[in-house]
Amino acid sequence: MGYNQKMYGLGSKRSIIREIFEYSKTRSQQIGAENVYDFSLGNPSVPAPAEVNNTIAELLASENSVLLHGYTSAQGDAGVRRVIADRINAKFNASITPNHIYMTCGAAASLSICLKALIEEDAQEECIVFAPFFTEYRVFIENAGGKIVVSKPMEKTFQIDIADFESKINEHTKAVIVNSPNNPSGVVYSEDTVKALCEVLKRKSEEYGKVIYLIADEPYRELVYSGVEVPYLMNYYDNTLVCYSYSKSLSLPGERIGYIAVCPNMQDASNVYLAVCGAGRSLGYVCAPSLFQQVIARCIDAKVNVEAYKENRDILYDNLTSYGYECVKPDGAFYLFVKALEEDAYKFFERAKDHEILVVPCDDFGVSGYVRIAYCTDKSKVIGALPAFEALAKEYK
Ligand code: PLP
Repeated sequence: MGYNQKMYGLGSKRSIIREIFEYSKTRSQQIGAENVYDFSLGNPSVPAPAEVNNTIAELLASENSVLLHGYTSAQGDAGVRRVIADRINAKFNASITPNHIYMTCGAAASLSICLKALIEEDAQEECIVFAPFFTEYRVFIENAGGKIVVSKPMEKTFQIDIADFESKINEHTKAVIVNSPNNPSGVVYSEDTVKALCEVLKRKSEEYGKVIYLIADEPYRELVYSGVEVPYLMNYYDNTLVCYSYSKSLSLPGERIGYIAVCPNMQDASNVYLAVCGAGRSLGYVCAPSLFQQVIARCIDAKVNVEAYKENRDILYDNLTSYGYECVKPDGAFYLFVKALEEDAYKFFERAKDHEILVVPCDDFGVSGYVRIAYCTDKSKVIGALPAFEALAKEYK
């Protein structure tokens, strides 16, 4: 056959989320969108800050348009990288320079670049992920020539199971991906968890005489509630690369903008940064969107209304648990990870569908028997869905 079968497989296999999305569209046409309680997609529901929209308008009105829409250097505009580095340094007491920052098309590109930069193809290298995990990790790791290894979570809390993690490390381990606040559990890994994780990483790196890299996938860093702190992993482990994105933190998922930050204290930091530049080049992820690089630099302190997500979380968590659903109270992101009311999450998903509730079965996220509720939606939709959730729970009593 004249084309790559692996890529054909990826392109032709519809993800469950995609399938639900298509179903939701059809069902909305049949019974009206207001009667479909679609909690399947992680698309931000709060608008980008006004400051962002105003800045776009100002830039378009005032800047030299040829320059504004032109190429920047491959790793991003030096001035923009300076603003980002300064912001990280001020916030986390770090010593990052523009030459540790690589501008990207969001966290997806950042992850793909980091994995490509670190993993030696054909060397049977492994990357550990913590269940439940963002399903695309598998695609990105395998595309970089690595093997995905899944570490199971602690029961109920969904924190990292440190003993299980340690048992998964071997001489092939190249990197570990940590995502906190987590998609799909909404859990923020505690400082104790982070310290224990980093202690294991240091000990095992020494034991095997090689660097094990930590990749911090942080698109949800800013979406936390009630002052919960998300530990900045570079401050706990030197061999860290941060994949940051403005998709959720500024509600700009379609604009494809984010960055990679290489910890300056990493072993061979400047060479790893060059490997990041090389991976970006080889994947064609050079010169992230120029207009949005400028927007970010000018809106570095802008914030979305996280309170709106917190309201939805509180309404759903309080009511669902009162109906008998079990779930960990999420401290961040905009997902609720709910135990299905029967063993098979797909069957539960079908029964929920009969009540016009659309949630995502999480087997592909590495944990079976759970569904994800993405509550990045209107509050009225959340409130409207409550009777349906209650009726669904009653069916199982
Ligand atoms: N990582 C996680 C955990 C995500 O949930 C997502 C998107 O939903 C991404 C990465 C990719 O985000 P981006 O839009 O920045 O590419």
